[in-house]
Amino acid sequence: MPITRLLIANRGEIALRIHRAAHEMGIETVAVHSTADADAMHVRLADHAVCIGPPAARDSYLNVAAIISAAEVTHADAIHPGYGFLSENAQFAEIVETHGITWVGPKPEHIRTMGDKIEAKRTAGALGLPLVPGSDGAVSDITEAKAIAEAAGYPVIIKAASGGGGRGMKVCNGPDELETLIQQAGSEAKAAFGDATVYIEKYLGNPRHIEFQVFGDGEGNAIHLGERDCSLQRRHQKVLEEAPSPVISPAERERMGGIVAKAMADMHYRGAGTIEFLWENGEFYFIEMNTRLQVEHPVTEAITGLDLVREQIRIADGKPLSVKQEDIEFSGHAIECRVNAEDPWNFTPSPGLVDMYHAAGGMNVRVDSGLYAGYRIPPYYDSMIAKLIVKGRTREGCIMRLKRALEEMVIGGVKTSIPLHQALMKEPDFIDGAYTIKWLEEWLARRD
Ligand code: ADP
Repeated sequence: MPITRLLIANRGEIALRIHRAAHEMGIETVAVHSTADADAMHVRLADHAVCIGPPAARDSYLNVAAIISAAEVTHADAIHPGYGFLSENAQFAEIVETHGITWVGPKPEHIRTMGDKIEAKRTAGALGLPLVPGSDGAVSDITEAKAIAEAAGYPVIIKAASGGGGRGMKVCNGPDELETLIQQAGSEAKAAFGDATVYIEKYLGNPRHIEFQVFGDGEGNAIHLGERDCSLQRRHQKVLEEAPSPVISPAERERMGGIVAKAMADMHYRGAGTIEFLWENGEFYFIEMNTRLQVEHPVTEAITGLDLVREQIRIADGKPLSVKQEDIEFSGHAIECRVNAEDPWNFTPSPGLVDMYHAAGGMNVRVDSGLYAGYRIPPYYDSMIAKLIVKGRTREGCIMRLKRALEEMVIGGVKTSIPLHQALMKEPDFIDGAYTIKWLEEWLARRD
């Protein structure tokens, strides 16, 4: 039975993004929302809308019972989880499937495996992906931890097995502080993720963050859609992403893409996924896999011409991959700026009434956002309010167009990160593509 009515278990720009793909496929949409989001754009545009609870995410967007009930009363036959919230919750995926609803996402067992970063590394290693050197699994015993850190070489990074969103990581510079930092990381991980398990990795000095977009049909066929460079980060959170990476050659893309696609084919992966690597001195080191659509997926769409959400829905519907690897062509260059409602320099959140709104336009400019004049940005959720995605035939042309598009964007009444992006566009290092995951924070520190 093909999908005819899709429930979107998310909010903000990604809910709108999914709605758009669904409507273009002739699929009706069901928006679920908290009381704080009753006026949201995706709620206005969806064919049906159900309020699922109060503002706090745990009572609404993470409220499994309320979401399943909403699907049942509206007769939705599929659920798309977007990113964040329940998107990487294997149990939710299982519950959805148990209710006879199509899950627009990977197989629950793969979500579970990749959600545990230790299991993910083991699996990736077994599939032939290069790993960051470090512990083979969880570390608890301090003598053993010291031996592992010694073998990897200091500095090392202590990471939470259930971590995410750049949280729960501690850099350790020598054996004296190892025990304390392991304990701290463990108790912080327990508080944040309900799981105190930690592991150790070599801390790479100055890598880039390069990730590959993959798609599988769940039956042993998989493709890659090239890489994205997400090295511009603040506190391990991405600020701007681009595709292709300024440092990856077509030959290297083909080689590494082939390796990741084969790994996904071998595991019979289904749907969209992202394989994240750190890249240093020409070498890739796997760090984790995300079993969902990523915030930065539009830069891949821009250079491949493929609609990734449509592809996800097709696969969930049991259709084959719409393209073969040899049919995929990469053309031009794309950059995405994440626009947050926050002070551009001290990053304090700036929710509230948007009294004026004008989206940038023109050739090869895309704005994914639920904003409109008169909308009130609620203080309860992530501060990202828009994504500006621009494509050019060359990276240089893309940057010129992005500068022009940033000038056109008007979001009145709240502070946004647009001035930060504008300043970045003038930086020689950025213009040269010569930046690593450390660059942005060092640049910000220099400006103080
Ligand atoms: P999360 O799931 O919380 O996003 P990741 O494992 O993807 O965690 O890491 C997020 C970011 O943290 C990376 O993009 C990188 O900036 C930094 N990081 C992670 N592991 C290492 C490492 N071994 N060495 C240096 N930096 C790292």
